[in-house]
Amino acid sequence: MTFRTYQHWINGAEQAPASQAYIERVSPAHGGLLAKFASGNEHDVDAAVAQAKALHTSGAWQSVPGSERAKLLTRLADLMERDADRLAVIEAEEVGKPIAYAKGEVLWSAELTRFAASLAWQIKGEAYTHLGDDKLGLVTREARGVVGLIVPWNFPLVCLFQKLPYALAAGCPVVIKPSELTSGSALEIARLAAEAGFPAGLINVVTGRGAVVGERLTRHPDVSMISFTGSTRVGKQIAATAAADLTRVALELGGKAANVVFADADLEAALDGVLFGVILNQGEECVAGTRLLIEASVADEFVSKLVARANKVVVGLPLDEKTQIGALIHAQHLESVLSYIDIGKQQGARLVCGGERLTDGELGEGYFVGPTIFTEVQPHHRIFREEIFGPVLTVTTFTTVEQAISLANDTDYGLGNGLWTKDVDKALQVSQKLQSGTVFVNTYLETAPQLPFGGFKQSGYGRENGVDGLHEFLEVKSTFIKLGARSPLLPNTLG
Ligand code: NAD
Repeated sequence: MTFRTYQHWINGAEQAPASQAYIERVSPAHGGLLAKFASGNEHDVDAAVAQAKALHTSGAWQSVPGSERAKLLTRLADLMERDADRLAVIEAEEVGKPIAYAKGEVLWSAELTRFAASLAWQIKGEAYTHLGDDKLGLVTREARGVVGLIVPWNFPLVCLFQKLPYALAAGCPVVIKPSELTSGSALEIARLAAEAGFPAGLINVVTGRGAVVGERLTRHPDVSMISFTGSTRVGKQIAATAAADLTRVALELGGKAANVVFADADLEAALDGVLFGVILNQGEECVAGTRLLIEASVADEFVSKLVARANKVVVGLPLDEKTQIGALIHAQHLESVLSYIDIGKQQGARLVCGGERLTDGELGEGYFVGPTIFTEVQPHHRIFREEIFGPVLTVTTFTTVEQAISLANDTDYGLGNGLWTKDVDKALQVSQKLQSGTVFVNTYLETAPQLPFGGFKQSGYGRENGVDGLHEFLEVKSTFIKLGARSPLLPNTLG
């Protein structure tokens, strides 16, 4: 892949940054220079918001019938599939993730776009007709207005596509703020959207640092809503900033998911799901199944088989098709993951797999950590409680269903959890008690576009995907209509 230079994308065209400054992205896998992104400031944000607002006010998008919006979304999905290989390379290189998974993420993003297109046909309200013959009540839904989409670096496309096609389906223009580490794919999408025929000014991308570009977007008086995916720390900051103008906020934040494995589960399937759940995307995944809760009677055998499998996971360069774990996002994050591994050891957990930086051969210039497993982990250990965002699994045993539920819920987060059992009663009863927006049963990280995604507790609020994902971007309006002659309420004032 060749070195890429990107500008902002504003009003359907490239625009150089007002500052003339750029941010370089160096590969986390081999240290080579990959790309250069415009370093945005408040002037760039203001220019993009002005275009989005002008488009919204003109009605050039919100007045377009949903069926037409759907056609353009479908065309965008077609173009993403056409260019899936190229987009996957950009995603894999900038994030450091395995190309084999990156390709699937591009196709999944296209799938979400097709689903959102189907919703654009069906935006509807309600009519209340039994209010008496002379009254009618209408509930309708309108586009919220200009929306700021702020996304992180771990799944640049998937996180964007849990928002973008739904906002467009709802009739909202957007200003996208991708991560300064992984901005390439969002800019490529903006170009594809122009090719698909979306109007200029509808999809704008301003790249740069969160504290500058993201902050200005959140404060901007003409932005009606911020849809944010990222850390709980920044999410809280955004909610506080947005509160000044009561700008609406949807927050997809951190997680600390548990995978609960009961002794009566298909343990072969659970081994595969638990391992995949913690190694996907190097563990840099908000719903990574980082806490294995395993029934004590099967724990020893399960863990020894898990370690054997973990040792076979292929850690390698992102563009190698065989790679299953790529590079961590940057040096500082590598240090953070390694320091959590130290903390785990210091607090008394037992390291049974991995646990160090890998530097052999072609891995020497990158930030690689293989699957890492700790047993004897207690709920007060920091590795049980804090989001590590690396391929680090903690193992804790339980003996009763109640204990399993209580351990799973013993976290500030509530994004996802998994559970494994062949007992239908247990599966349904436990899933109802798990405090998370998603529960995977007898699988992990598998879902469908129809199912909403979002968090309980400090994993955020608001929902993406499903019909709820569309409704995030719609305001509700009530219209009460009096039919026929109206009896005056102030008859004494009549002339
Ligand atoms: P982050 O919070 O550091 O940054 C996310 C985005 O916010 C980036 O674009 C960043 O530039 C921007 N930003 C930073 N400071 C800002 C500010 N003050 N105002 C406005 N924008 C600002 O997160 P990250 O390190 O890029 O991503 C990792 C985090 O994202 C993890 O905590 C992970 O759990 C979370 N995540 C959550 C989900 C989910 O759906 N719940 C999905 C993926 C990642």
